[in-house]
Amino acid sequence: MPTPGKTLISTPQIRKRVKILAREITRHYRGKPLTVVGLMNGSLFFLVDLLRELPVETRIECWRLKSYQGTRSTGKIQGLDSCGDDYSGRHVLIVDDILDTGLTLHEVTKKIRGLNAADVRICVLLDKQVPRKRDVTAHWTGFQIPNLFVIGYGLDLDHQYRTLPMIRVLPS
Ligand code: 5GP
Ligand code: MG
Repeated sequence: MPTPGKTLISTPQIRKRVKILAREITRHYRGKPLTVVGLMNGSLFFLVDLLRELPVETRIECWRLKSYQGTRSTGKIQGLDSCGDDYSGRHVLIVDDILDTGLTLHEVTKKIRGLNAADVRICVLLDKQVPRKRDVTAHWTGFQIPNLFVIGYGLDLDHQYRTLPMIRVLPS
């Protein structure tokens, strides 16, 4: 198992940023019926930390999707067919760990729009500075990062390292 590399974003930095995002999200959705759709497993830690700060009316759903093998995107999103509900009248906020090629969030946004959501927005912890394969922009972003493969705080390499409390890079 490769040793994790240097810390890119520390635990206190994450904690501070999540509180700010939660405050902005709460303000934006005041008076609106909010459903948060968290994309598993990568967003697990971010999702829970964010949800702790959101109003009690917030509905929560988790969708289990997969597109990565090792450090590469397979270009296909698995698991989307078995996800979803009727979101008529709901304001849906998709929460994911990282925006990379944009494929995942493009497909998920399309699917949720098709389920009659009144509004669909995106919140990601990390926004990787790479050319997108799909034109996707997050409404709320925790941190912009360079084009590096990162692990920790929910992000994995073949199912390992998710429990690291900070974001680290892998040594190349
Ligand atoms: P996209 O569909 O935007 O290419 O990729 C989104 C998914 O790929 C993320 O939700 C995440 O699971 C995975 N991913 C992309 N970049 C990284 C990375 O640097 N580290 C890890 N662990 N996963 C990544
Ligand atoms: Mg993911």
